[in-house]
Amino acid sequence: MPSILFRNASVTTMDTRRPVAQAVLVRDGTIAWVGQEQDIPLQRVDRIIPCGGATLLPGLNDAHIHLLALASSLRQLDCSRGAVASILDIQGLVRATAQATPPGQWLRGRGYDEFYLREQRHPSQADLDAAAPSHPVRLDHRSGHASVLNSLGLELVGIGLDTPDPPEGVIQRDVDGQTTGLLLEMGSYLSQRMREFRAPEQMTEMVSETSQALLRWGVTSLQDASPENNMERWRTLRAMREKGALQQRLTFMPGIHHLAQFTNAGLAYGAGDDWLRLGPAKLVVTLTTGVLYPPEEEILALVRDAHRNGFPVAAHAVEEEAIITVLRAFQASKDSWGSSPLPDRVEHCSEATPKVQMLLKATNAMVVTQPGFIYESGERYVATVPPEKQPWLYPLRTLRYLGVPLAAGSDAPVASPNPWRVIYCAVTRRSADGLALHPEQGLPLEDALRLYTVGAAAAAGEGGLKGTLQAGAPADMALLDRHLVEAAPDDLLTARAVLTMVGGEVVWEM
Ligand SMILES: [Zn+2]
Repeated sequence: MPSILFRNASVTTMDTRRPVAQAVLVRDGTIAWVGQEQDIPLQRVDRIIPCGGATLLPGLNDAHIHLLALASSLRQLDCSRGAVASILDIQGLVRATAQATPPGQWLRGRGYDEFYLREQRHPSQADLDAAAPSHPVRLDHRSGHASVLNSLGLELVGIGLDTPDPPEGVIQRDVDGQTTGLLLEMGSYLSQRMREFRAPEQMTEMVSETSQALLRWGVTSLQDASPENNMERWRTLRAMREKGALQQRLTFMPGIHHLAQFTNAGLAYGAGDDWLRLGPAKLVVTLTTGVLYPPEEEILALVRDAHRNGFPVAAHAVEEEAIITVLRAFQASKDSWGSSPLPDRVEHCSEATPKVQMLLKATNAMVVTQPGFIYESGERYVATVPPEKQPWLYPLRTLRYLGVPLAAGSDAPVASPNPWRVIYCAVTRRSADGLALHPEQGLPLEDALRLYTVGAAAAAGEGGLKGTLQAGAPADMALLDRHLVEAAPDDLLTARAVLTMVGGEVVWEM
């Protein structure tokens, strides 16, 4: 592996003892030295990269992403806010795609948001039937927590007039008891029942495209938080890695309901290698249907079981009630097993009210936040979240002040995978239309960058050297196209990497 010297850079190290520097020397996949120009060690190197004063920082680490879903979304109809304005537009997209697709094949769309559609409602089964009567159609909501199917689609997944609601979700019906096509919290239900053929080569190609796009933003590590993560997906992702389709390091969070597959195979927390590692167990706790799912006793049983097997838990919890239940379960389990050094995490932790903040302090749980949601849903929050809760939506400055360990992720494909949009929102709290949601909760840039570097490493149980630029750290870094600190906040949105390095190897260069 060639040795490389970065010179004349504005190095943001994330190392508190030496926060800034000018030069970095990389040797054998590791950072060998960091310092000032005049102290550069006199050694022969294979390559010198003059950085022209641009920012060099640790490679970005997306602490919450759904890689395979993001890769698949590349081939789905884009029904997001920027792409369509109405149900009529969606019908047009579906109709055009149906004409170019053999009948009977699934048509998939993603990212619609009824709040931003002209009709101010979800598309319906009938809307989709009108556009594509001979194809099964499935449109996924932006949040990933709702889908709309047409009649053929519902029939193929076995949902009819008499199908009961599954315990975790709702099959919406009209006053006459007919399905409307809208399904809430039924993503896993659908994925178990949909036969959507995709050749492995096609999947590999889509993962490769996704990985490349992330490298161009400087992303060098990912943490996959999909509750569907089972042994088969672990093998699939390992194969992607071996084929070179996946260039980032990946922490794979096993779905808590699939955990036994891993423990039975002798795979413990942290198993794997530096490229693909087994992470915390992913638990999803929802309140979408009005009641907590799974119920409280079951949450506690799942958390205890994961802890007993040596896995910390990463729990999806958005509403105050869900977050409190999760934190109490973390606490109760730790009390019975003795305090554990493993970092339990609350994913999203959207309604972080004072009561939640107290419990976060008491349990020492991490918060893995998605400030990027503000960009896409700022107006929606203001219109739909009770005013007394709005100051406590992703209150990053308060959490930082309280010393709650923080990391951030994109949650792509639920939101854009662009890390710079997330960092922009962590600083400015602005939506796409410029609305600022409690801007007093914005973080200084340096702290926002920590969410995607040292914070993210700690969330994956890899705290220490990873996510910093100091001697001994893995040589994962991004050289940007600008000097970040001198740039205006709005410029964060367009930041790009001109060079991205993983494990000492240049994997992207403009
Ligand atoms: Zn997620």
